Amino acid sequence: MQSTLPTYWQRLRNMARENGVVQGEATMETLRRFRIFAVIMLVVNLAYTAEFWLHTNQHEAAVRAHWANAVGWAHCVCAVAMVVLGLLLHRCYVGSQRSSAHALGLQILFCASMLLFAIALSVIDQMVTPNTTNFATICLLVAMTSLMRPAITLVLFFFAYLLFFVALEITQPNPNLLALARSHSVSAVLMSIVASAVVWRQFVTAVLLRRELVRSHKSIADKQAELEYLATHDTLTGLYNRREFMRLAEMELARGARFPADVCMLMVDLDFFKKINDQYGHPAGDSVLQQVAVLLAAGVRSTDIVARMGGEEFIVLLPNTAIEGALAAAEKLRSAIRAQHLKVQSLLVPVTVSIGVSAITKAQRGTVDELYTAADQALYAAKHGGRDRVEYRATMLPSER
Ligand code: GH3
Ligand code: MG
Ligand code: MG
Repeated sequence: MQSTLPTYWQRLRNMARENGVVQGEATMETLRRFRIFAVIMLVVNLAYTAEFWLHTNQHEAAVRAHWANAVGWAHCVCAVAMVVLGLLLHRCYVGSQRSSAHALGLQILFCASMLLFAIALSVIDQMVTPNTTNFATICLLVAMTSLMRPAITLVLFFFAYLLFFVALEITQPNPNLLALARSHSVSAVLMSIVASAVVWRQFVTAVLLRRELVRSHKSIADKQAELEYLATHDTLTGLYNRREFMRLAEMELARGARFPADVCMLMVDLDFFKKINDQYGHPAGDSVLQQVAVLLAAGVRSTDIVARMGGEEFIVLLPNTAIEGALAAAEKLRSAIRAQHLKVQSLLVPVTVSIGVSAITKAQRGTVDELYTAADQALYAAKHGGRDRVEYRATMLPSER
């Protein structure tokens, strides 16, 4: 029992917070509905005005003619109100996609106008009948279509009932019928308040669920993008990883089968990298790998594919490039890395690379493996030739072996 009260209090506070969170969306949705509502009401009002003014029999009893005339006037005034409010609603809805105090004010004004119309109709009806159906129906209609926070609904319907309670006396002289009409309208108002609260709660739950759905959808999409990145990239350097490089290279060579073109490959290996690790530590070695990756990516064309094969080995695919261009590009990369002393801790350390180059000409039909094997052999030659150099080895295709 001790914990029940705080729990209810907490729930109420949560509901109040949720109400505030969806208020803007609720107002805009109501304005959208009210635009349609205003058009329908206008048609109904005009039809009733015509019905009550044009078809009222002049020879009917004076009270009945008086009543019909008054009902006609009520519909006529409501029709004018619908035109004005309808235009205001439309302007507000189209003009601002975000809710504002202005939009909420317009929503309340529209509800108040409808309730005034309901009061007027039922008060006029008292001339001929104690029936308050018009008041009850319109109250329910307003409650079901207007998405209002319970506090606003309570205030609105309380004042509507108060006004109705007083106004009934104007046209209902019989004290018993007056009491009956007043008590009937209490139930109509209570029912409307309950209906409005149910509709509001359903709307709040739906909006919050939808937002949650959008949030979780976005988080899944982000996670998926992250997984895709991790599956295709090297986390240390941000370059493509070996698997993705091989996939892209296969695609490039497959394209070459339809549109023949020269393709070259560069295998880049840092010289004596182990010494950097031993001397400055692995974190410093990692930083060197990252700096070399930046230099490689910056030193080739955007259509070239740069990847880290693993360790201190990088690989570059140069589509649409003849061997002369590839050798020039390799030489450019080698000298750029040599010239750029890399930052290791606070020191600037010279780093060199050996590069093995291989090529497939547009007349040949080779595979990625054949290119890779030839580039590896060229790299081996560069290492044995003294490092800090570029070597080329021709690709040995099956037909040429
Ligand atoms: P060589 O000129 O013959 O290529 O000599 P090397 O020292 O560069 O080559 P070796 O294969 O002897 O050593 C490569 C070193 O690279 C050994 C390994 O610890 C280091 N290494 C591999 N992956 C990473 C990495 O991700 N980060 C760091 N810091 N070091 C790495
Ligand atoms: Mg090395
Ligand atoms: Mg190596």
